[in-house]
Amino acid sequence: MKDQFHEIFKSKGINYFTQDQPMREFLNFFKFEGDSDIEELGKYVSEELIEIMDFVDHNGKPELITWNPDGKRIDYVRLSPEHKKALKRLQDFGVVIKSASGNVPWMYHFVSGYLISDSGIFCSLTLTAQTAYALKKYYKGDEKFLEHFLDGSDPWYGATFYSETQGGSDLGANKTRATETKNGWVLNGSDKYFASNAGIADGAVVIAMAGDKGIRSLVTFFMPAARKSGEPNFTIRRLKNKLGTVAVPTGEVEFSDSEAYLLGERNKGIYYAMEILTISRVDDAMAAVGIARKAFWEAYLFAERRATFGKTINSHPLMRKDITSLEAELEGAIILSLYAAKLFSDVVEVEPPYNDSYHYARFITHLSKNIAAWSSVHVTQYSMEIFGGIGFFEEFPIAKFHRDALVTSIWEGTSNIQALEMMETIAKKGVATVFFDDLKRRMERVKDTFLKEKLETRIKFAEEQFESLVKSGSFERGSKDLLKIFGNVLSLALLSEAGSELGSQRLIGISEIYDIISFENNRIGFEDLFENMELVNWMHKV
Ligand SMILES: Cc1cc2nc3c(=O)[nH]c(=O)nc-3n(C[C@H](O)[C@H](O)[C@H](O)COP(=O)(O)OP(=O)(O)OC[C@H]3O[C@@H](n4cnc5c(N)ncnc54)[C@H](O)[C@@H]3O)c2cc1C
Repeated sequence: MKDQFHEIFKSKGINYFTQDQPMREFLNFFKFEGDSDIEELGKYVSEELIEIMDFVDHNGKPELITWNPDGKRIDYVRLSPEHKKALKRLQDFGVVIKSASGNVPWMYHFVSGYLISDSGIFCSLTLTAQTAYALKKYYKGDEKFLEHFLDGSDPWYGATFYSETQGGSDLGANKTRATETKNGWVLNGSDKYFASNAGIADGAVVIAMAGDKGIRSLVTFFMPAARKSGEPNFTIRRLKNKLGTVAVPTGEVEFSDSEAYLLGERNKGIYYAMEILTISRVDDAMAAVGIARKAFWEAYLFAERRATFGKTINSHPLMRKDITSLEAELEGAIILSLYAAKLFSDVVEVEPPYNDSYHYARFITHLSKNIAAWSSVHVTQYSMEIFGGIGFFEEFPIAKFHRDALVTSIWEGTSNIQALEMMETIAKKGVATVFFDDLKRRMERVKDTFLKEKLETRIKFAEEQFESLVKSGSFERGSKDLLKIFGNVLSLALLSEAGSELGSQRLIGISEIYDIISFENNRIGFEDLFENMELVNWMHKV
Protein backbone atom coordinates (compact mmCIF):
# COMPACT_ATOMS: atom_id res chain seq x y z
CA MET A 1 0.00 0.00 0.00
CA LYS A 2 1.19 3.53 -0.73
CA ASP A 3 2.26 5.14 2.55
CA GLN A 4 2.82 8.90 2.62
CA PHE A 5 2.91 9.91 6.27
CA HIS A 6 6.60 10.74 5.77
CA GLU A 7 5.46 13.53 3.43
CA ILE A 8 3.83 15.43 6.28
CA PHE A 9 6.17 14.29 9.05
CA LYS A 10 9.72 14.63 7.88
CA SER A 11 11.51 13.28 10.94
CA LYS A 12 9.84 9.92 10.36
CA GLY A 13 12.55 7.26 10.33
CA ILE A 14 14.91 9.12 12.65
CA ASN A 15 15.89 7.19 15.77
CA TYR A 16 14.83 9.62 18.48
CA PHE A 17 17.21 8.02 20.96
CA THR A 18 20.40 7.32 19.06
CA GLN A 19 20.24 10.43 16.84
CA ASP A 20 19.32 12.97 19.50
CA GLN A 21 22.83 14.29 20.10
CA PRO A 22 22.17 16.62 23.06
CA MET A 23 20.11 13.96 24.81
CA ARG A 24 22.92 11.45 24.37
CA GLU A 25 25.43 14.00 25.69
CA PHE A 26 23.30 14.70 28.75
CA LEU A 27 22.71 11.01 29.47
CA ASN A 28 26.44 10.49 29.21
CA PHE A 29 26.92 13.37 31.67
CA PHE A 30 24.43 11.81 34.11
CA LYS A 31 25.98 8.37 33.54
CA PHE A 32 22.79 6.74 32.36
CA GLU A 33 23.26 3.89 29.94
CA GLY A 34 20.37 2.92 27.76
CA ASP A 35 19.71 -0.59 26.52
CA SER A 36 18.46 -2.19 23.32
CA ASP A 37 14.82 -1.63 24.35
CA ILE A 38 15.29 2.10 24.71
CA GLU A 39 17.12 2.26 21.38
CA GLU A 40 14.27 0.39 19.73
CA LEU A 41 11.78 2.69 21.44
CA GLY A 42 13.50 5.72 19.83
CA LYS A 43 12.93 4.14 16.43
CA TYR A 44 9.41 2.90 17.09
CA VAL A 45 8.23 6.39 18.12
CA SER A 46 9.22 8.13 14.89
CA GLU A 47 8.41 5.23 12.59
CA GLU A 48 5.05 4.18 14.04
CA LEU A 49 3.87 5.80 17.25
CA ILE A 50 3.74 9.41 16.06
CA GLU A 51 1.44 8.45 13.20
CA ILE A 52 -0.84 6.36 15.42
CA MET A 53 -1.12 9.10 18.02
CA ASP A 54 -1.70 11.79 15.40
CA PHE A 55 -4.58 9.69 14.09
CA VAL A 56 -5.98 9.04 17.58
CA ASP A 57 -5.81 12.77 18.31
CA HIS A 58 -7.81 13.71 15.22
CA ASN A 59 -9.99 10.69 14.58
CA GLY A 60 -9.80 8.09 17.34
CA LYS A 61 -10.75 9.79 20.57
CA PRO A 62 -11.53 7.43 23.51
CA GLU A 63 -15.26 7.03 23.94
CA LEU A 64 -17.33 6.16 27.02
CA ILE A 65 -19.97 3.47 26.56
CA THR A 66 -22.01 3.37 29.76
CA TRP A 67 -24.35 0.41 29.23
CA ASN A 68 -24.16 -2.93 27.46
CA PRO A 69 -27.07 -4.07 25.22
CA ASP A 70 -28.57 -5.99 28.16
CA GLY A 71 -28.92 -2.82 30.22
CA LYS A 72 -25.95 -3.58 32.48
CA ARG A 73 -23.78 -0.66 33.59
CA ILE A 74 -20.29 -1.25 32.21
CA ASP A 75 -18.56 2.16 31.85
CA TYR A 76 -16.41 0.85 29.05
CA VAL A 77 -13.93 3.31 27.56
CA ARG A 78 -13.39 2.21 24.01
CA LEU A 79 -9.93 2.86 22.51
CA SER A 80 -9.10 2.37 18.88
CA PRO A 81 -7.39 -1.00 18.32
CA GLU A 82 -4.19 0.75 17.18
CA HIS A 83 -4.16 2.84 20.36
CA LYS A 84 -4.53 -0.32 22.47
CA LYS A 85 -1.74 -1.99 20.55
CA ALA A 86 0.49 1.05 21.03
CA LEU A 87 -0.03 0.97 24.80
CA LYS A 88 0.84 -2.72 24.89
CA ARG A 89 3.88 -2.18 22.70
CA LEU A 90 5.11 0.54 25.06
CA GLN A 91 4.57 -1.81 27.99
CA ASP A 92 6.61 -4.44 26.09
CA PHE A 93 9.47 -1.93 25.91
CA GLY A 94 9.32 -1.97 29.73
CA VAL A 95 8.33 1.69 30.09
CA VAL A 96 6.53 0.89 33.36
CA ILE A 97 7.53 -2.60 34.40
CA LYS A 98 11.31 -2.34 34.23
CA SER A 99 11.46 0.50 36.75
CA ALA A 100 8.38 -0.36 38.82
CA SER A 101 9.70 -3.88 39.44
CA GLY A 102 12.90 -2.40 40.83
CA ASN A 103 15.00 -4.11 38.14
CA VAL A 104 16.34 -0.93 36.53
CA PRO A 105 16.56 2.65 37.83
CA TRP A 106 13.49 4.91 37.46
CA MET A 107 15.61 6.97 35.10
CA TYR A 108 14.72 4.41 32.44
CA HIS A 109 11.03 5.19 32.82
CA PHE A 110 11.64 8.95 32.81
CA VAL A 111 13.80 8.88 29.66
CA SER A 112 11.13 6.77 27.94
CA GLY A 113 8.67 9.59 28.59
CA TYR A 114 10.90 11.98 26.67
CA LEU A 115 11.11 9.58 23.76
CA ILE A 116 7.39 8.77 23.61
CA SER A 117 6.61 12.38 22.63
CA ASP A 118 2.88 12.28 23.29
CA SER A 119 1.81 13.58 26.68
CA GLY A 120 -1.59 11.87 26.35
CA ILE A 121 -0.41 8.32 25.82
CA PHE A 122 2.51 8.81 28.19
CA CYS A 123 0.02 10.04 30.80
CA SER A 124 -1.63 6.59 30.72
CA LEU A 125 1.77 5.06 31.49
CA THR A 126 2.73 7.68 34.06
CA LEU A 127 -0.42 6.95 36.02
CA THR A 128 0.26 3.24 35.75
CA ALA A 129 3.84 3.68 36.93
CA GLN A 130 2.72 5.82 39.87
CA THR A 131 0.18 3.22 40.96
CA ALA A 132 2.69 0.37 40.71
CA TYR A 133 5.24 2.48 42.63
CA ALA A 134 2.72 3.14 45.40
CA LEU A 135 1.76 -0.53 45.69
CA LYS A 136 5.36 -1.73 45.72
CA LYS A 137 6.44 0.73 48.36
CA TYR A 138 3.44 1.15 50.61
CA TYR A 139 0.87 -1.61 50.21
CA LYS A 140 1.18 -4.14 53.03
CA GLY A 141 -1.99 -6.23 52.49
CA ASP A 142 -2.47 -9.75 51.21
CA GLU A 143 -4.03 -9.06 47.82
CA LYS A 144 -1.60 -9.51 44.95
CA PHE A 145 -2.34 -6.22 43.18
CA LEU A 146 1.28 -5.39 42.33
CA GLU A 147 1.76 -8.70 40.52
CA HIS A 148 -0.90 -7.68 38.01
CA PHE A 149 0.91 -4.42 37.27
CA LEU A 150 4.17 -6.30 36.72
CA ASP A 151 2.63 -9.02 34.57
CA GLY A 152 4.19 -8.33 31.16
CA SER A 153 1.71 -10.44 29.21
CA ASP A 154 -1.44 -8.66 30.42
CA PRO A 155 -0.39 -5.74 32.64
CA TRP A 156 -2.84 -3.71 34.71
CA TYR A 157 -3.12 0.04 34.20
CA GLY A 158 -3.35 2.61 36.96
CA ALA A 159 -4.67 6.09 37.76
CA THR A 160 -4.50 8.76 40.45
CA PHE A 161 -7.80 10.19 41.61
CA TYR A 162 -6.75 13.21 43.69
CA SER A 163 -8.29 16.44 42.33
CA GLU A 164 -11.91 17.28 42.97
CA THR A 165 -14.26 19.91 41.58
CA GLN A 166 -13.52 22.22 44.49
CA GLY A 167 -9.82 21.51 44.80
CA GLY A 168 -6.92 20.42 42.65
CA SER A 169 -4.26 22.65 44.19
CA ASP A 170 -6.01 22.65 47.54
CA LEU A 171 -6.16 18.94 48.31
CA GLY A 172 -7.31 19.70 51.85
CA ALA A 173 -10.65 20.69 50.29
CA ASN A 174 -11.29 17.07 49.21
CA LYS A 175 -14.82 15.92 50.06
CA THR A 176 -14.57 12.19 49.31
CA ARG A 177 -15.12 10.36 52.59
CA ALA A 178 -13.22 7.28 53.73
CA THR A 179 -14.82 5.01 56.35
CA GLU A 180 -13.29 1.99 58.01
CA THR A 181 -15.82 -0.88 58.31
CA LYS A 182 -15.45 -4.39 59.66
CA ASN A 183 -14.87 -5.55 56.07
CA GLY A 184 -12.28 -2.91 55.25
CA TRP A 185 -12.29 0.69 53.97
CA VAL A 186 -15.04 2.13 51.78
CA LEU A 187 -15.04 5.46 49.94
CA ASN A 188 -18.00 7.69 49.08
CA GLY A 189 -18.10 10.85 46.97
CA SER A 190 -18.95 12.24 43.57
CA ASP A 191 -16.39 15.04 43.19
CA LYS A 192 -13.40 13.34 41.50
CA TYR A 193 -13.55 15.58 38.49
CA PHE A 194 -10.24 14.95 36.68
CA ALA A 195 -9.82 11.18 36.64
CA SER A 196 -7.39 10.47 33.82
CA ASN A 197 -7.17 6.86 32.63
CA ALA A 198 -10.70 6.25 33.97
CA GLY A 199 -12.07 3.28 32.07
CA ILE A 200 -8.59 2.05 31.16
CA ALA A 201 -7.28 1.74 34.70
CA ASP A 202 -7.64 -1.54 36.56
CA GLY A 203 -7.01 0.31 39.79
CA ALA A 204 -6.19 3.77 41.11
CA VAL A 205 -4.41 5.57 43.90
CA VAL A 206 -7.17 7.60 45.58
CA ILE A 207 -7.07 10.18 48.34
CA ALA A 208 -10.02 10.71 50.67
CA MET A 209 -10.85 12.31 54.03
CA ALA A 210 -11.05 10.15 57.11
CA GLY A 211 -11.73 12.98 59.56
CA ASP A 212 -12.27 16.72 59.67
CA LYS A 213 -8.73 18.02 60.10
CA GLY A 214 -8.27 19.11 56.47
CA ILE A 215 -5.03 17.99 54.87
CA ARG A 216 -4.06 16.03 58.01
CA SER A 217 -7.14 13.83 57.58
CA LEU A 218 -6.20 12.81 54.05
CA VAL A 219 -5.61 9.10 53.65
CA THR A 220 -4.13 7.43 50.57
CA PHE A 221 -5.64 4.22 49.20
CA PHE A 222 -5.44 1.80 46.34
CA MET A 223 -8.84 1.25 44.77
CA PRO A 224 -9.27 -1.62 42.28
CA ALA A 225 -11.68 -0.97 39.41
CA ALA A 226 -13.59 -4.16 40.31
CA ARG A 227 -15.05 -5.09 43.69
CA LYS A 228 -14.30 -8.45 45.33
CA SER A 229 -17.61 -9.60 43.82
CA GLY A 230 -16.37 -8.68 40.35
CA GLU A 231 -18.88 -5.79 39.96
CA PRO A 232 -17.58 -2.29 39.00
CA ASN A 233 -16.16 -0.52 42.06
CA PHE A 234 -16.98 3.01 40.80
CA THR A 235 -18.90 4.63 38.00
CA ILE A 236 -17.73 7.05 35.31
CA ARG A 237 -20.13 9.97 34.89
CA ARG A 238 -18.64 11.31 31.66
CA LEU A 239 -15.40 11.93 29.77
CA LYS A 240 -14.09 15.43 29.22
CA ASN A 241 -13.79 17.16 25.89
CA LYS A 242 -10.19 18.42 25.98
CA LEU A 243 -8.00 20.78 23.97
CA GLY A 244 -5.08 18.34 24.00
CA THR A 245 -3.83 15.04 25.43
CA VAL A 246 -6.82 13.51 23.67
CA ALA A 247 -5.39 9.98 23.86
CA VAL A 248 -5.81 9.72 27.60
CA PRO A 249 -9.46 9.65 28.66
CA THR A 250 -10.09 12.06 31.53
CA GLY A 251 -13.37 11.42 33.32
CA GLU A 252 -15.50 12.23 36.32
CA VAL A 253 -15.82 9.27 38.68
CA GLU A 254 -18.23 8.57 41.52
CA PHE A 255 -17.75 6.29 44.50
CA SER A 256 -20.51 4.50 46.33
CA ASP A 257 -19.21 2.35 49.17
CA SER A 258 -16.27 1.69 46.87
CA GLU A 259 -13.77 -0.81 48.27
CA ALA A 260 -10.35 0.63 49.00
CA TYR A 261 -7.10 -0.64 50.51
CA LEU A 262 -4.93 1.43 52.80
CA LEU A 263 -1.48 2.42 51.55
CA GLY A 264 1.11 2.74 54.30
CA GLU A 265 0.01 4.32 57.56
CA ARG A 266 -3.28 6.11 57.87
CA ASN A 267 -1.87 9.37 59.25
CA LYS A 268 0.80 9.76 56.57
CA GLY A 269 -1.59 10.02 53.62
CA ILE A 270 -0.54 13.46 52.45
CA TYR A 271 3.15 12.47 52.42
CA TYR A 272 2.46 9.46 50.21
CA ALA A 273 0.14 11.46 47.95
CA MET A 274 2.79 14.13 47.36
CA GLU A 275 5.57 11.57 46.89
CA ILE A 276 3.53 9.68 44.30
CA LEU A 277 2.73 12.99 42.61
CA THR A 278 6.44 13.72 42.30
CA ILE A 279 6.76 10.88 39.77
CA SER A 280 4.18 12.50 37.54
CA ARG A 281 5.85 15.88 37.93
CA VAL A 282 9.14 14.46 36.70
CA ASP A 283 7.24 12.63 33.93
CA ASP A 284 5.43 15.81 33.03
CA ALA A 285 8.71 17.68 32.62
CA MET A 286 10.21 14.87 30.54
CA ALA A 287 7.14 14.63 28.32
CA ALA A 288 7.01 18.41 27.94
CA VAL A 289 10.57 18.64 26.64
CA GLY A 290 10.09 15.46 24.61
CA ILE A 291 7.24 16.91 22.58
CA ALA A 292 9.04 20.24 22.26
CA ARG A 293 12.09 18.48 20.81
CA LYS A 294 10.02 16.62 18.20
CA ALA A 295 8.09 19.75 17.22
CA PHE A 296 11.33 21.67 16.89
CA TRP A 297 13.03 18.86 14.96
CA GLU A 298 10.18 19.01 12.45
CA ALA A 299 10.49 22.80 12.26
CA TYR A 300 14.25 22.57 11.77
CA LEU A 301 13.83 20.16 8.85
CA PHE A 302 11.17 22.42 7.38
CA ALA A 303 13.46 25.46 7.69
CA GLU A 304 16.08 23.63 5.64
CA ARG A 305 13.62 23.21 2.74
CA ARG A 306 11.38 26.25 2.71
CA ALA A 307 12.71 29.18 0.66
CA THR A 308 11.74 32.87 0.81
CA PHE A 309 13.40 35.84 -0.89
CA GLY A 310 15.59 33.48 -2.89
CA LYS A 311 17.09 31.41 -0.08
CA THR A 312 16.10 28.81 2.45
CA ILE A 313 14.60 30.32 5.56
CA ASN A 314 17.36 28.86 7.72
CA SER A 315 19.82 31.10 5.82
CA HIS A 316 18.20 34.31 7.03
CA PRO A 317 20.17 35.74 9.99
CA LEU A 318 17.06 36.41 12.01
CA MET A 319 15.73 32.88 11.53
CA ARG A 320 19.16 31.45 12.39
CA LYS A 321 19.02 33.37 15.62
CA ASP A 322 15.52 32.04 16.28
CA ILE A 323 16.74 28.50 15.75
CA THR A 324 19.87 28.68 17.92
CA SER A 325 17.97 30.50 20.68
CA LEU A 326 15.20 27.91 20.72
CA GLU A 327 17.77 25.13 20.77
CA ALA A 328 19.52 26.70 23.79
CA GLU A 329 16.23 27.22 25.62
CA LEU A 330 15.22 23.64 24.97
CA GLU A 331 18.55 22.12 25.94
CA GLY A 332 18.49 24.07 29.21
CA ALA A 333 15.04 22.64 29.96
CA ILE A 334 16.08 19.11 28.97
CA ILE A 335 19.20 18.96 31.12
CA LEU A 336 17.29 20.35 34.10
CA SER A 337 14.49 17.80 33.65
CA LEU A 338 17.02 15.00 33.44
CA TYR A 339 18.65 16.24 36.62
CA ALA A 340 15.31 16.07 38.43
CA ALA A 341 14.78 12.57 36.99
CA LYS A 342 18.21 11.46 38.15
CA LEU A 343 17.82 12.85 41.67
CA PHE A 344 14.37 11.33 42.14
CA SER A 345 15.54 8.05 40.67
CA ASP A 346 18.19 7.93 43.41
CA VAL A 347 15.79 8.46 46.33
CA VAL A 348 12.90 6.13 45.50
CA GLU A 349 13.62 3.93 48.51
CA VAL A 350 13.42 6.79 51.02
CA GLU A 351 10.28 6.91 53.19
CA PRO A 352 8.61 9.60 55.35
CA PRO A 353 9.88 11.59 57.22
CA TYR A 354 12.43 11.48 54.36
CA ASN A 355 15.99 12.85 54.27
CA ASP A 356 17.90 15.78 52.80
CA SER A 357 18.49 14.05 49.46
CA TYR A 358 14.77 13.45 49.07
CA HIS A 359 13.90 17.07 49.91
CA TYR A 360 16.48 18.28 47.40
CA ALA A 361 15.12 15.98 44.69
CA ARG A 362 11.62 17.35 45.33
CA PHE A 363 12.89 20.92 45.22
CA ILE A 364 14.58 20.36 41.85
CA THR A 365 11.37 18.80 40.56
CA HIS A 366 9.55 22.09 41.16
CA LEU A 367 12.23 24.00 39.24
CA SER A 368 12.26 21.59 36.34
CA LYS A 369 8.50 21.20 35.94
CA ASN A 370 8.12 24.95 35.67
CA ILE A 371 10.98 25.52 33.22
CA ALA A 372 10.14 22.44 31.11
CA ALA A 373 6.44 23.25 30.80
CA TRP A 374 6.90 26.87 29.79
CA SER A 375 9.77 26.04 27.40
CA SER A 376 7.54 23.40 25.85
CA VAL A 377 4.74 25.91 25.33
CA HIS A 378 7.17 28.42 23.82
CA VAL A 379 9.21 26.02 21.67
CA THR A 380 6.14 24.25 20.23
CA GLN A 381 4.47 27.58 19.56
CA TYR A 382 7.49 29.03 17.78
CA SER A 383 8.04 25.78 15.88
CA MET A 384 4.55 26.37 14.57
CA GLU A 385 5.53 29.87 13.50
CA ILE A 386 8.60 28.55 11.67
CA PHE A 387 6.12 26.65 9.51
CA GLY A 388 4.40 29.96 8.77
CA GLY A 389 0.65 29.80 8.16
CA ILE A 390 0.54 26.07 7.50
CA GLY A 391 1.83 25.45 11.01
CA PHE A 392 -1.59 26.45 12.22
CA PHE A 393 -3.38 23.74 10.26
CA GLU A 394 -4.53 20.61 12.01
CA GLU A 395 -3.72 18.49 8.96
CA PHE A 396 -0.03 18.65 9.89
CA PRO A 397 1.29 17.19 13.15
CA ILE A 398 2.78 20.41 14.54
CA ALA A 399 -0.47 21.85 15.96
CA LYS A 400 -1.04 18.77 18.11
CA PHE A 401 2.38 19.15 19.74
CA HIS A 402 1.48 22.66 20.82
CA ARG A 403 -2.00 21.71 22.09
CA ASP A 404 -0.43 18.88 24.08
CA ALA A 405 2.21 21.22 25.51
CA LEU A 406 -0.37 23.61 26.94
CA VAL A 407 -1.50 21.38 29.78
CA THR A 408 2.00 20.66 31.05
CA SER A 409 2.14 23.76 33.23
CA ILE A 410 -1.32 23.04 34.67
CA TRP A 411 -1.69 19.40 35.60
CA GLU A 412 0.33 17.83 38.42
CA GLY A 413 0.26 21.26 40.06
CA THR A 414 0.27 24.63 38.30
CA SER A 415 3.34 26.84 38.18
CA ASN A 416 2.07 28.87 41.14
CA ILE A 417 1.80 25.67 43.14
CA GLN A 418 5.34 24.66 42.12
CA ALA A 419 6.53 28.07 43.33
CA LEU A 420 4.74 27.79 46.67
CA GLU A 421 5.89 24.25 47.29
CA MET A 422 9.45 25.27 46.42
CA MET A 423 9.23 27.98 49.09
CA GLU A 424 8.00 25.39 51.55
CA THR A 425 11.04 23.17 50.95
CA ILE A 426 13.23 26.24 51.48
CA ALA A 427 11.45 27.40 54.63
CA LYS A 428 10.97 24.00 56.29
CA LYS A 429 13.79 21.87 54.92
CA GLY A 430 16.58 24.41 54.50
CA VAL A 431 17.13 23.41 50.87
CA ALA A 432 18.50 26.78 49.71
CA THR A 433 21.95 26.17 51.22
CA VAL A 434 22.21 22.79 49.51
CA PHE A 435 21.14 24.44 46.25
CA PHE A 436 23.76 27.18 46.32
CA ASP A 437 26.45 24.68 47.31
CA ASP A 438 25.42 22.50 44.38
CA LEU A 439 25.62 25.46 42.00
CA LYS A 440 29.04 26.53 43.25
CA ARG A 441 30.46 23.01 43.06
CA ARG A 442 29.30 22.79 39.46
CA MET A 443 30.76 26.21 38.68
CA GLU A 444 34.19 25.07 39.94
CA ARG A 445 34.15 22.31 37.34
CA VAL A 446 33.58 24.70 34.42
CA LYS A 447 36.87 25.07 32.51
CA ASP A 448 35.87 27.78 30.04
CA THR A 449 36.85 31.00 31.87
CA PHE A 450 34.36 33.27 30.08
CA LEU A 451 31.47 30.95 30.92
CA LYS A 452 32.70 30.42 34.47
CA GLU A 453 32.69 34.17 35.09
CA LYS A 454 29.21 34.46 33.64
CA LEU A 455 27.98 31.66 35.85
CA GLU A 456 29.54 33.24 38.92
CA THR A 457 27.69 36.49 38.14
CA ARG A 458 24.38 34.64 37.70
CA ILE A 459 24.79 32.67 40.92
CA LYS A 460 25.48 35.91 42.77
CA PHE A 461 22.39 37.45 41.19
CA ALA A 462 20.26 34.47 42.29
CA GLU A 463 21.66 34.76 45.84
CA GLU A 464 20.93 38.49 45.96
CA GLN A 465 17.40 38.01 44.67
CA PHE A 466 16.80 35.26 47.20
CA GLU A 467 18.14 37.36 50.08
CA SER A 468 16.09 40.39 49.10
CA LEU A 469 12.96 38.23 48.89
CA VAL A 470 13.63 36.85 52.36
CA LYS A 471 14.17 40.39 53.71
CA SER A 472 11.02 41.71 52.01
CA GLY A 473 8.87 39.09 53.70
CA SER A 474 6.83 38.85 50.46
CA PHE A 475 7.55 35.16 50.13
CA GLU A 476 4.47 34.23 48.13
CA ARG A 477 4.44 37.26 45.84
CA GLY A 478 8.05 36.77 44.73
CA SER A 479 8.09 32.99 44.70
CA LYS A 480 7.43 32.38 41.01
CA ASP A 481 10.12 34.84 39.93
CA LEU A 482 12.53 33.02 42.19
CA LEU A 483 11.41 29.64 40.81
CA LYS A 484 12.33 30.82 37.32
CA ILE A 485 15.64 32.42 38.33
CA PHE A 486 16.67 29.29 40.23
CA GLY A 487 15.66 27.09 37.29
CA ASN A 488 17.59 29.23 34.80
CA VAL A 489 20.76 29.43 36.86
CA LEU A 490 20.79 25.68 37.52
CA SER A 491 20.21 24.93 33.82
CA LEU A 492 23.12 27.21 32.96
CA ALA A 493 25.35 25.52 35.54
CA LEU A 494 24.47 22.05 34.26
CA LEU A 495 24.93 22.97 30.59
CA SER A 496 28.28 24.65 31.28
CA GLU A 497 29.55 21.83 33.43
CA ALA A 498 28.45 19.21 30.88
CA GLY A 499 30.19 21.21 28.13
CA SER A 500 33.45 21.19 30.11
CA GLU A 501 33.23 17.61 31.25
CA LEU A 502 32.44 16.25 27.80
CA GLY A 503 34.84 18.66 26.06
CA SER A 504 31.99 19.78 23.80
CA GLN A 505 32.45 23.14 22.05
CA ARG A 506 28.87 22.79 20.85
CA LEU A 507 27.58 22.68 24.44
CA ILE A 508 29.77 25.59 25.44
CA GLY A 509 28.21 27.65 22.62
CA ILE A 510 24.73 26.54 23.67
CA SER A 511 25.52 27.55 27.28
CA GLU A 512 26.59 31.03 26.18
CA ILE A 513 23.38 31.53 24.25
CA TYR A 514 21.35 30.14 27.15
CA ASP A 515 23.00 32.67 29.42
CA ILE A 516 22.07 35.60 27.17
CA ILE A 517 18.46 34.59 26.52
CA SER A 518 17.85 33.82 30.19
CA PHE A 519 19.63 36.68 31.91
CA GLU A 520 20.11 39.43 29.32
CA ASN A 521 17.03 39.16 27.18
CA ASN A 522 16.29 42.86 27.53
CA ARG A 523 19.26 43.78 25.35
CA ILE A 524 19.90 43.13 21.66
CA GLY A 525 21.62 39.81 21.07
CA PHE A 526 24.10 40.68 18.33
CA GLU A 527 26.76 37.98 18.92
CA ASP A 528 27.91 35.95 15.86
CA LEU A 529 27.27 32.86 17.95
CA PHE A 530 23.56 33.22 17.29
CA GLU A 531 24.19 32.36 13.65
CA ASN A 532 26.40 29.35 14.33
CA MET A 533 24.43 26.55 12.73
CA GLU A 534 26.99 23.98 13.87
CA LEU A 535 25.21 24.12 17.21
CA VAL A 536 22.05 22.67 15.68
CA ASN A 537 22.96 20.89 12.47
CA TRP A 538 22.98 17.54 14.24
CA MET A 539 19.23 17.63 13.51
CA HIS A 540 19.89 17.46 9.77
CA LYS A 541 18.41 14.25 8.39
CA VAL A 542 20.92 12.20 6.44
C1 LIG B 1 -6.28 17.18 31.16
C2 LIG B 1 -6.21 17.09 32.66
C3 LIG B 1 -6.05 15.86 33.25
C4 LIG B 1 -6.00 15.77 34.65
N1 LIG B 1 -5.85 14.53 35.21
C5 LIG B 1 -5.86 14.41 36.56
C6 LIG B 1 -5.80 13.12 37.19
O1 LIG B 1 -5.69 12.11 36.53
N2 LIG B 1 -5.87 13.07 38.54
C7 LIG B 1 -5.98 14.18 39.30
O2 LIG B 1 -6.04 14.04 40.51
N3 LIG B 1 -6.04 15.41 38.75
C8 LIG B 1 -5.98 15.55 37.41
N4 LIG B 1 -6.06 16.80 36.82
C9 LIG B 1 -6.28 17.96 37.68
C10 LIG B 1 -5.10 18.91 37.77
O3 LIG B 1 -4.06 18.34 38.50
C11 LIG B 1 -5.64 20.20 38.40
O4 LIG B 1 -6.54 20.78 37.46
C12 LIG B 1 -4.55 21.19 38.73
O5 LIG B 1 -3.74 20.69 39.77
C13 LIG B 1 -5.12 22.56 39.14
O6 LIG B 1 -6.14 22.43 40.09
P1 LIG B 1 -7.55 23.14 39.87
O7 LIG B 1 -8.01 22.80 38.49
O8 LIG B 1 -8.45 22.76 40.98
O9 LIG B 1 -7.26 24.66 39.90
P2 LIG B 1 -7.26 25.59 41.21
O10 LIG B 1 -6.55 24.88 42.30
O11 LIG B 1 -8.64 26.06 41.47
O12 LIG B 1 -6.38 26.78 40.71
C14 LIG B 1 -6.90 27.82 39.86
C15 LIG B 1 -5.81 28.86 39.67
O13 LIG B 1 -5.48 29.45 40.93
C16 LIG B 1 -4.10 29.33 41.16
N5 LIG B 1 -3.89 29.14 42.60
C17 LIG B 1 -4.46 28.22 43.41
N6 LIG B 1 -4.03 28.38 44.67
C18 LIG B 1 -3.16 29.41 44.66
C19 LIG B 1 -2.36 30.05 45.64
N7 LIG B 1 -2.34 29.64 46.91
N8 LIG B 1 -1.61 31.11 45.27
C20 LIG B 1 -1.58 31.53 43.99
N9 LIG B 1 -2.30 30.96 43.02
C21 LIG B 1 -3.08 29.91 43.35
C22 LIG B 1 -3.62 28.17 40.34
O14 LIG B 1 -2.24 28.28 40.03
C23 LIG B 1 -4.51 28.30 39.09
O15 LIG B 1 -3.94 29.21 38.21
C24 LIG B 1 -6.10 16.92 35.44
C25 LIG B 1 -6.27 18.17 34.82
C26 LIG B 1 -6.32 18.26 33.44
C27 LIG B 1 -6.49 19.60 32.80
